[in-house]
Order: sequence, then C-alpha cells, then structure tokens
Amino acid sequence: MHNTDERYMREAIKQAKKAYALNEVPIGCVIVHEDRIIARGYNKRNTIKSTLGHAEITAIKKAGKVIGDWRLEECTMYITLEPCPMCAGAIVQARIPKVVIGAMNPKAGCAGSVVNLLQMEGFNHRVDVTYDVLQEECSRMLQEFFRELRKVKSV
Ligand SMILES: [Zn+2]
Repeated sequence: MHNTDERYMREAIKQAKKAYALNEVPIGCVIVHEDRIIARGYNKRNTIKSTLGHAEITAIKKAGKVIGDWRLEECTMYITLEPCPMCAGAIVQARIPKVVIGAMNPKAGCAGSVVNLLQMEGFNHRVDVTYDVLQEECSRMLQEFFRELRKVKSV
C-alpha cells in the first residue's frame, strides 16, 4: 500500500460523506489520471431514484468527459466499498487498469467476495486490484450509517 493510495482513498471517503449527508448509503469514488483527480462520485440512488446512481457510474461518466474517451486506460479508481456487479462491469468496459478498494462487501461485492468480475480469466480486460486501503475507516462509516438507520426505523 502506498501513501498515495491512502491520500486518494481519503478523497473517496469525502465523497461518501456527501452521500451520508443525503441519507444515502455512504459510498464514494474518485478517478485519478496523471496524479490528479479528474472525477468524483458518491451514491445518490435514492436522490435520483435510479439504480444507476452508484458512485462509480457517476465518476465514470465524468471521467469520460474529461478524458474525451470512453476508454479510461490510464486511470485509477478509488472506491470506499467493493463494487457491485453493475459497477464492476462498467469498470471492465471502461478498461480501467487499476482499482483501489476500501472495504469489502460480502453480500454483493464483485471484486472477489461473491465473484471477481475484475479479474476473470475469460475477459479481455483484467484489473489490477489493491484491497483494504483505509478499510477500517470505510467500514466504520457504513456501520454507523446502518446503525443510525435502524435507530430511526425502530422509533
Ligand atoms: Zn455499483
């Protein structure tokens, strides 16, 4: 793990906190190109009433505009939580070479938990994945969110 990874994961955490503030599951993402953040995203699924509101999809859309190409071949994505099947698919489709993950998602994660779509033998693109960067901070944020949610629901 590099300090650079932690630095950018902190930026992804900042994005996740924006989701938290909107009562959305706190998941955040940044995409880095040539040591510069070119796109940010946070989960806003409820706010925009779309399953496409995941942090990674938002960031991939923005990054494509900045780079001027759907291929994000020189980019690194930092995500606070292991991606779902949709986002893992988008990462492969965008040919992102490197993904850095904070916490794992045992029930839905597609970077090794349920399946590993990022590193399938049969696909023509495989992603270099770094796990557990600021894992505790990323998990704690999610745990707090769900704890608060349960409190609200039990009132
Ligand atoms: Zn997703």
